[in-house]
Amino acid sequence: MCPRCQCEYRRPDDRRFHAEANCCPKCGPQLFLLDAEGHRLPDDPLATALAMLRQGKIVAIKGLGGFSTWPVTHAMR
Ligand SMILES: [Zn+2]
Repeated sequence: MCPRCQCEYRRPDDRRFHAEANCCPKCGPQLFLLDAEGHRLPDDPLATALAMLRQGKIVAIKGLGGFSTWPVTHAMR
């Protein structure tokens, strides 16, 4: 949590006081894409993932609830 969000979290008069999901673009969830060896890819992760799906590759998305695998579908071609 960044200092600004930490301040909001700790102030009882703030509307985000003890809000568990308190975060901002600086300290919140990040979107990135890793290759099969775990190396972070430098390009836009969403555009790259979509391009990979269109090439017939499988993309695995990891979130708070675990993994979801996305195979290519006809709607994506
Ligand atoms: Zn923050």
